[in-house]
Amino acid sequence: MPTSTLDAWAQQTVSSAALSYFLMIGREVATLYLWGMAFFFIERLRPAEPQTPFFKRDFKTELCYPIFNAAFSTPIYTFLVLALTLGLLEPYTPHYILGAHVTTWPYWGQVLFALLVADAAVYIEHRFAHRVLWDFHSMHHMAKEVSWLTWARVHPVNVITIGLVAVIMRFIFGFASEAIVTAGWIGAALSVWEHSNLDFKLPKPLCYLVVTPHFHRWHHASEKEAIDKNFCLIFPFIDLIMGTYYCPDRKPHAYGVHRDRDPVTGELSPELPDTFLEQVVYPFKKQLERIPAFAKRTEAVPTSSTQTQRARGFAPGS
Ligand SMILES: [Zn+2]
Ligand SMILES: [Zn+2]
Repeated sequence: MPTSTLDAWAQQTVSSAALSYFLMIGREVATLYLWGMAFFFIERLRPAEPQTPFFKRDFKTELCYPIFNAAFSTPIYTFLVLALTLGLLEPYTPHYILGAHVTTWPYWGQVLFALLVADAAVYIEHRFAHRVLWDFHSMHHMAKEVSWLTWARVHPVNVITIGLVAVIMRFIFGFASEAIVTAGWIGAALSVWEHSNLDFKLPKPLCYLVVTPHFHRWHHASEKEAIDKNFCLIFPFIDLIMGTYYCPDRKPHAYGVHRDRDPVTGELSPELPDTFLEQVVYPFKKQLERIPAFAKRTEAVPTSSTQTQRARGFAPGS
């Protein structure tokens, strides 16, 4: 290829990649705006916490998450998904065998099964996040006022782990791509819905079939009985089967990260950081502090009181 043709091709590739990138961010912002418009009215119908305004205290902080994730986490996640699915998974999974069978199913059967598979996978990832990735996942649980936007309050590392797990499971089962796209939209809508500040619950046994805001608010409750409960994001019967279902009729008293009192000093475990950038950096700092050499240098060795900040992940029911 002559140099001038090569230059033109490179220029075209870069500009079309840049265009796709900005279109993707634009689409995320537009979707967020539409969700916001819808839930501005929906949350007014019957709010679970009437004292929580639409523009709550940490509205701006929570708003930074989806924008940052659209700009940085999604491209990384997309690259990892492509590398994993095309480079690693495709040659070694029974994708084609299962795919040939699953794609003959009715469309809505595939969508439902894709949702079930993704939720079972996310259930495992979510339990893992409460145990091993708690420093990152705790940013989602920091919200003391839970509303529709809390759905997007997910640390970039957590965005990547959730996305990878769901995509890998769907890939292994080989669903048609249209079914995956529809399942993705339903999953996203349910995620916004279950975080909304809406007093809505279903009677038994319907409450085990699909998530409600009441069910997921108990996942965000800071009461000790609610710690490490209600991990699923779509089908509560998964929690019921796994013994992690907890959904009393009453509303939780408070939301946020549970803070314990140090049995020796009597001090409460410290509050997590307030600003968005601190929240993104904080989990990495905590991970570094656990490396003895680094902890010595920063004099930030975790004490029993700082470890209690991780009570949700390391000492369930404590
Ligand atoms: Zn959680
Ligand atoms: Zn949540």
